[in-house]
Amino acid sequence: MCEQVTILGTNVHSVSQQEALEIIAEFIASGKPHHIITANAEIVYQAYHDQTRRQIINNADLVTADGAGVVWAANYLGQPLPERVTGIDLFHAICRIAGEKQWKIYILGAKQEIIEQAVQNLQTQYPHCSIVGYHNGYFDQQEEEAILNDIKKKQPDVLLVAMGVPKQDDWIITHQKILQVPVAMGVGGCLDVISGKLKRAPQWMQKMSLEWLYRLILQPSRIGRMMALPKFMLAVHQMRKKKR
Ligand code: UDP
Repeated sequence: MCEQVTILGTNVHSVSQQEALEIIAEFIASGKPHHIITANAEIVYQAYHDQTRRQIINNADLVTADGAGVVWAANYLGQPLPERVTGIDLFHAICRIAGEKQWKIYILGAKQEIIEQAVQNLQTQYPHCSIVGYHNGYFDQQEEEAILNDIKKKQPDVLLVAMGVPKQDDWIITHQKILQVPVAMGVGGCLDVISGKLKRAPQWMQKMSLEWLYRLILQPSRIGRMMALPKFMLAVHQMRKKKR
């Protein structure tokens, strides 16, 4: 496939968003199951200390650089990436082209009122996109059986799982063997944004790599999780020193 860069032991594919979409189209055409992860600094830093998480990412079929921290690290380590390829941008891009490509989408995750509103907004924005099913991300084992049966019955081409990291990727890995969905991708808090409950940072902040700051202002409770960013940067700096 495409080239990879290694950041603290985690492999990230060197792709633009357009290339990622072409790879997704190939995955779907193959009919075989694939797992996509959009990695940010927090995920890569967690994987640095946790071999299981690292293996999960390194075994994924496509890993894109979701966060500005990952793009910065690749650059700093002398292996520049073309651009950020975020889960939310991929989510929108998939829905935008799904009608023309005749892809069927299934969405799993978030609270009931959030997913309902998100699906409604997606159907308004992308009227040709076929969302064949959806379910909230809070279910017990019995409900899970019903969800799995529903997904198997509807045979989507793309399964978007928005249950946060690492839950969503563990869920995909556990069930991909029986589901056999060509593209299963973890999309974190995307439904909160698509539903309108949470705002995405303005363009100028995204361009200045300050999306994390905007998120912190909106959700100050994320401060603990966000402390991974400076720790990640320090670890990358030390890795570069060791390499020289
Ligand atoms: N969520 C879910 N089921 C769970 C836990 C979380 O569906 O058991 C949803 C939650 O409602 C939210 C998303 O997962 O919509 C997590 O968002 P977050 O911003 O934390 O994602 P991350 O930053 O981990 O990608």
